[in-house]
Amino acid sequence: MNESPAVAEYELVPGHISEFASGIKALHGVDVNLCYQCRKCTSGCPLTEFMDMTPTQVIHAVRLGLKDMVLNTNTYWLCVACGTCTARCPQETGLLKVMDALANIAIKEGIAPKERAIAEFYKTGLSIIENFGMMYEAGVAGLLSLKTGNIGRDARVGLRMMKKGKLDVMPHFQNSREMKKLFKKVAKKEQELARS
Ligand code: SF4
Ligand code: SF4
Repeated sequence: MNESPAVAEYELVPGHISEFASGIKALHGVDVNLCYQCRKCTSGCPLTEFMDMTPTQVIHAVRLGLKDMVLNTNTYWLCVACGTCTARCPQETGLLKVMDALANIAIKEGIAPKERAIAEFYKTGLSIIENFGMMYEAGVAGLLSLKTGNIGRDARVGLRMMKKGKLDVMPHFQNSREMKKLFKKVAKKEQELARS
């Protein structure tokens, strides 16, 4: 795994917190200064080998305020929110929340995702949940195939899953009105936070 030479060029001033890290702390309640670089998060992360910066490097770069560098990695897009990093962290830094925060910031700032299919998966999944009140896997798979152009491959996987009874052909609706209200509430809250 890649040690990022650019990160090593910066020195941390004790007690200093970069503007980037302060923003993440204010909005997501994570104090990246708690991290002492033990790397337990990285050694437990199942996706590290595919990431262009390790979770440990990401948290350090956030601390140093290297916003452009961090937002242009694929790390937070590949994060599957398994929570292993957070569970293993002796400092309880809440690295998973950092990954979440980075994806949110990138979307708001219009930064092109390094992993387009994953970004599309999130958007499609959320829109399905908003409209159906629950996940509709076959719908997500179909829409995602159209958006990413992987129609043949996804259709084969989908058919295999249907045969095994793991994918419902028809959608189910569950509290879809309430879910729509909830999405509106969250969007409003996000706008308020962005203005404050
Ligand atoms: S496990 Fe926690 S303290 Fe250790 S490097 Fe990861 S975030 Fe930092
Ligand atoms: S939550 Fe994300 S960063 Fe943390 S261990 Fe899981 S995949 Fe890796």
